[in-house]
Amino acid sequence: KANRLFKAEDTVIDVLGSKIGGSNLGIIAGPCSVESEEQVVEIAKSVKESGANFLRGGAFKPRTSPYSFQGMEMEGLNLLKLAKQETGLPIVTELMSTDYIDKFVEDVDVIQIGARNMQNFDLLKQVGRTNKPILLKRGLSATIEEWLMSAEYIMAEGNESVILCERGIRTFETYTRNTLDLSAIPIVKRLSHLPVIVDPSHASGDWRLVEPMSKAAILSGCDGLIIEVHNNPQKALCDGQQSIKPNKFKFLMEKIRVLAEIE
Ligand code: PEP
Ligand code: MN
Repeated sequence: KANRLFKAEDTVIDVLGSKIGGSNLGIIAGPCSVESEEQVVEIAKSVKESGANFLRGGAFKPRTSPYSFQGMEMEGLNLLKLAKQETGLPIVTELMSTDYIDKFVEDVDVIQIGARNMQNFDLLKQVGRTNKPILLKRGLSATIEEWLMSAEYIMAEGNESVILCERGIRTFETYTRNTLDLSAIPIVKRLSHLPVIVDPSHASGDWRLVEPMSKAAILSGCDGLIIEVHNNPQKALCDGQQSIKPNKFKFLMEKIRVLAEIE
């Protein structure tokens, strides 16, 4: 179902008027994790003003260590709803367990499946039975074929609103957190009609690389970006080192607009 052979035209995902795909660049921005009302509302307002059209923010976090901050969970979800009320930005947030699926269907606009769950086939099937757009991140060591097959799991259940997200893959290089696979963008766009976006934050793990990787992704033909923005990266409870400040995001958005014209 994800294959271009069965659908020639690009899929456009429209969430409350915010679109991704076709000629629409979807920009998702916000903190790695929701930390407090002030934090998420302040960031949401600033990214909206800079031109983001979706708000990201983790409430349930897949952390490497069980002793790291695991997210605010239900309280985090409520704060995202508050930030949506304040800004009108649709919410993108990660679902890790099928236990919360009904709650997510009720409150969330785009359900994110994280890299670590890309091959959690039960989770994929269950979100495939919802009517919510799904942001499917590429697994840490997943091939393009495996990634597309995971999209297929969702679509096979009837949900054809899938956004693919390239977020960097594991290589031998340790300077960056992951290696952004830019070539995946034109390859997947040739193979599939689904929108492909890029996460320069997790792909690099370094705020200084977010701008150059965003520019490269836009010129490689992606349909959007998901960027971590924090108002106090040094104090962030998660991924501060790869988060850009609201002001930096504003300037980045101006550059992206120019590059998107060229593309
Ligand atoms: C995230 O977007 O916060 C995240 C955990 O990303 P990934 O699943 O790509 O590591
Ligand atoms: Mn993060």
